[in-house]
Amino acid sequence: MGLFDTFIGNYKCEYCNALFEFQEQTKDFGELLEYFYLGDYIDRGNRNYFYDFEYECPKCKAINNISIAIRRGQYVGVISTAAAETTNILEFDNIEDGYQRNRNYDKKCQNKLGKDERSKVDSFEQRHVGDYIEALGSKWLIKEVYTEQVKAGVGDNRIIEFIYNENYVYRVSDGGCSRIIKESNNMSGILVRVYEDSIGEGTEMLEMDDYNHYSVMNFCILKKLE
Ligand SMILES: [Zn+2]
Repeated sequence: MGLFDTFIGNYKCEYCNALFEFQEQTKDFGELLEYFYLGDYIDRGNRNYFYDFEYECPKCKAINNISIAIRRGQYVGVISTAAAETTNILEFDNIEDGYQRNRNYDKKCQNKLGKDERSKVDSFEQRHVGDYIEALGSKWLIKEVYTEQVKAGVGDNRIIEFIYNENYVYRVSDGGCSRIIKESNNMSGILVRVYEDSIGEGTEMLEMDDYNHYSVMNFCILKKLE
């Protein structure tokens, strides 16, 4: 089974006018399991072309013929394939680098919820009560400090070691709202995730798509450090 990359975008169904998000898997690029959003540079070849595909409307099930405009290697727009056939790709201008990613990040900063990233640091250390931590454009005061520790005698240790990362979980406040921030030391960098403050109200896994609800990994316990 080959790998694929995925174009993410929004499109209005030509048949029922429903606005939907498409996730078009493609093997035409690096096959690195990357996600391409509007504004991303996807093609180092600096080329100009339309990437055409068919996509079923999730509402009315009609097949839409969609074209993604690639201008100087950048994903710059989404139009119907019929429109693409009469459009010169050179009429498209380049747009803000990472346009959709930047909008998504702005939205997370507004809601003060979601994923943030830091570049890799030499040492990953516990922060303490009274320290500040920055995430999603806000500065947060640490009120309590926890860590997720692997429960004794659960499952296959090699698998757990592979998926477990050193982590700290902080209960924080920015003066207005209270949040949980989990900082974990992944191979690729420091992953920072801001959640609703739900510790004490049950930290069990809810719906898988409830990403803003903090839950302890199921092979771990949450240990209070400070
Ligand atoms: Zn439709």
